[in-house]
Amino acid sequence: MGRRPFIAGNWKMNMTAASGAKLIGELKPLVKDANCDVALCVPAILIPEMVKAAAGSNIKIGAENVHWAPSGAYTGEISAEMLKEYGVEYVIIGHSERRQYFGETDESVNMRLHAALKAGLTPIVCVGEMLAEREAGKTDKVLDRQLTVGLGGVDDITKVVIAYEPVWAIGTGKTATDEQAQETIAHIRKKIGELFCPMCAQKVIIQYGGSMNAGNCKGLMAQPDIDGGLIGGASLKLDFATIVNYDKE
Ligand code: PEP
Repeated sequence: MGRRPFIAGNWKMNMTAASGAKLIGELKPLVKDANCDVALCVPAILIPEMVKAAAGSNIKIGAENVHWAPSGAYTGEISAEMLKEYGVEYVIIGHSERRQYFGETDESVNMRLHAALKAGLTPIVCVGEMLAEREAGKTDKVLDRQLTVGLGGVDDITKVVIAYEPVWAIGTGKTATDEQAQETIAHIRKKIGELFCPMCAQKVIIQYGGSMNAGNCKGLMAQPDIDGGLIGGASLKLDFATIVNYDKE
């Protein structure tokens, strides 16, 4: 379908300016011949230094969250324009840790998404079910709600990246099997086709995220509907380069 694979890291609340710049410096030559788009989403305070560290390479820098308002009395928050001003190209929205620990909802995900798109950032919208929801057979229902509300009102869905991250697989070492990930991502693509149009759904990049690593990336990336990965723990080390080069020997 001509979808260019996209591997992104999520550093979460890890790294310092020095360790982050060192890692990016080491990754640059290792990922320079990647056959996919490459990004690292980093803590907001590290953005200016990491943009400098990645300059002249194929590593793009992303943020881990964005506020929905262009400016105003929102202590501690950061707007899309502020991110853009510092060279950010991607932003993660609705990560399960934001939903779980910071009360984010499908509605606030939608507001953040519109702000990101308006500023010309590429949003990476995270969706995924909890373990109890999967065990209760509610995975599709949960995803349908997250997609319907979270993506509401988007004009061009092909400008949005979706990350399917089963919550039970994030940071736990428990990866979804290749088949589970493929089946669920195929469902997500079908739902996007219903919400927008089937042709557009075929163009949307959908990543898998959840304990993806150097050992399991090949199998996941071989699935027809999996277009990339959102990588947490493994993006903090050189393993990230192995994942980016998943299609090479
Ligand atoms: C994530 O934080 O998006 C993630 C997938 O983490 P990990 O790879 O560590 O499971």
